Amino acid sequence: MNVPVNTPVFQGNEKKYLMDCIDTGWISSAGAYIEKFEQGMAELTGQKYGIAVCNGTAALEAAVLALNLEKGGEVILPDFTIISCVQAIVKAGLIPVPVDCTADTWNMDVSQVEAKITDKTRAIMVVHIYGLPTDMDPIRELARKHNLKIIEDAAEAHGLTYRGEPCGGMGDASIFSFFPNKHITSGEGGMIMTSDEAVRDRARGARNLFFDPERRYIHSEFGSNFRMTNMQAAVGLAQLEQIGTTVKRKREIGAYYQEALQGIDGIQLPLPRTEYAENIYWVFGIVLKDPDRNADEIMKKLGEKGIGTRHFFYPMHKQPALLKEGCCPKESLEDSLYPNANYISTHGFYIPSGLGLTREQQAYVAEELRKLF
Ligand SMILES: *Cc1c(COP(=O)(O)O)cnc(C)c1O
Repeated sequence: MNVPVNTPVFQGNEKKYLMDCIDTGWISSAGAYIEKFEQGMAELTGQKYGIAVCNGTAALEAAVLALNLEKGGEVILPDFTIISCVQAIVKAGLIPVPVDCTADTWNMDVSQVEAKITDKTRAIMVVHIYGLPTDMDPIRELARKHNLKIIEDAAEAHGLTYRGEPCGGMGDASIFSFFPNKHITSGEGGMIMTSDEAVRDRARGARNLFFDPERRYIHSEFGSNFRMTNMQAAVGLAQLEQIGTTVKRKREIGAYYQEALQGIDGIQLPLPRTEYAENIYWVFGIVLKDPDRNADEIMKKLGEKGIGTRHFFYPMHKQPALLKEGCCPKESLEDSLYPNANYISTHGFYIPSGLGLTREQQAYVAEELRKLF
């Protein structure tokens, strides 16, 4: 049997809306679907504005630029995340300060954040990891106390809530990705969410070369072309209409694995819930408990059975790009500060959990995995 790690599913108005773009000729970055998609995401998250861009990495870059943080300032972020986070910080002339994750939620260990705050700290970037949110109350408390901005990476968190509050609604600037393995896809795509007009305007500027709104072809600073097309927004809007069903289905997939993999001694499963959230299983991650085994070995064996898997993220403090740049404070690169990120990045991997997954495929994955322990 062949079980890919993800297959996207289009069951709603995707085709209809997309054909409408082609039929009417509205195919570039102007068009009604962009505004509808932006408004729809604003409603989902409780933010006032959405600014659609071409991918989640661009959304992070635009979000950091939009906050207009003083160059040379420090931004605290999780060590266990995607490179896009650290890159957005460095590209804006800011200094990333990583924090280890917890061993069970794989999210940033919020109890370690305060010790990292200095008089240069300007913002905290939180990233909701693999389907569970960061514990936001302590972060918001610190942000208030130290007058810091919150950048919220909700690229894996469409439809997730923290104590009932939507993820993507808790940052001064929040972002989403709409890559095909996310809960809402537009092929490629991303969005910045904010309720602050100044942030909205700067994010729009960053998306479109900081064109002077009064006189075209005059530019107040360097931006990028991060525009999303109306065609992408058409698909994204159709996907957004189904977010409720998608989250329900992903939770069913997660619950099935929880049950089918229960009791295997050598593996740690994702937490189905915490005190503040219920997992939406962006992916279904597994961590090997035996330090002497590693993810590559298991992934290879599953691959031989036709089962797709992916590695966990690789810690930021060990990224060759970051070391080369010399842009991270030396003391932040100390390997012993990150035991959890180090462990899960070598002992963690995720198994197929896309919306296209069938019960038979899931049963097969669980059975083959069980055989390896
Ligand atoms: C997917 C993802 C991104 C980047 O999104 P792209 O659209 O692939 O550029 C950023 N942050 C997190 C946490 C992600 O999972």
